[in-house]
Amino acid sequence: MLLREVEYAKPASLAEALELLAANEGARALAGGQTLINVMKARAASPDLLVDLNGLDELRGIELAPDGTLTIGAMTTYTTLLRSAEAKARPILGEVCAQIADVQVRNRGTIGGNLCSNDPTNHLPPLMAAIGAELTITGASGERTVPAQDFFLGVYMTAVQQDELLTRITIPAGRRDGFAAVTLGVDGTCIVNAAASANGGLRIAVGCVDAVPVVVEASSPDDVRAAVRAAKLDPPSDVHASSEYRAHLAEVLAERAARQAVEH
Ligand SMILES: Cc1cc2nc3c(=O)[nH]c(=O)nc-3n(C[C@H](O)[C@H](O)[C@H](O)COP(=O)(O)OP(=O)(O)OC[C@H]3O[C@@H](n4cnc5c(N)ncnc54)[C@H](O)[C@@H]3O)c2cc1C
Repeated sequence: MLLREVEYAKPASLAEALELLAANEGARALAGGQTLINVMKARAASPDLLVDLNGLDELRGIELAPDGTLTIGAMTTYTTLLRSAEAKARPILGEVCAQIADVQVRNRGTIGGNLCSNDPTNHLPPLMAAIGAELTITGASGERTVPAQDFFLGVYMTAVQQDELLTRITIPAGRRDGFAAVTLGVDGTCIVNAAASANGGLRIAVGCVDAVPVVVEASSPDDVRAAVRAAKLDPPSDVHASSEYRAHLAEVLAERAARQAVEH
């Protein structure tokens, strides 16, 4: 289907992008366009103005601090992440980005767009929740930083307001992580996914079973299934999987991700 007519702007600075968003309630940020353009074609979203972030170098790049902390610009693509020498400090990032869709989507899709769309089947929301990422949101009144666990508010809803932008993602040092998913086909959408981090305690975030990633903690991989069961998941049923099957996969995949994390 063709797009409805829409205004387009390509700001040259973050300040200009924020001004455009603030001046027009119908304005939406355009990152890789891999979700937004599709939902516009389906008429599920109908912005009046697209504010293209692709000219903003200040939203790109990956920095590795001496203590192992990674700071990633929101407009960094999956391909950049999985090729980056700096991002190898937290190897799970590249491993999971390499599993997202196909090469075209990975070349255009951005970490910021993935998190801001908060599609419950996306790979990165549970990963960010498990590894304790912090997300920096910028608006006219300045910056605020939100832990990943508080960033996701509902299906397609996050802590980013219409006149704000997610600008960067900060990821603490750590290598003991895991990720497991059952997908539709090899590179397909996740039916259920789970990310785990064993840097300190053992934290697991399960995706596709609720509107936002469900975070559980366990003392060892042996306890993970019980921890997921205690979360009393009530996943959706659809043509791909029943609620019961998703609940079963949640336990299996959470344990698998946890074992991968502790064995790293
Ligand atoms: C065929 C196909 C298969 C896919 N399969 C998967 C998959 O298996 N797993 C997966 O995780 N994803 C998958 N995706 C989605 C893909 O990863 C998208 O790239 C991602 O969801 C959105 O990122 P984007 O950069 O394209 O953002 P866009 O589509 O440009 O934007 C998405 C939303 O986020 C907002 N936004 C973007 N950046 C910012 C920002 N910095 N600040 C505030 N708001 C912002 C936009 O306004 C929009 O509402 C798939 C996409 C396609 C087309």
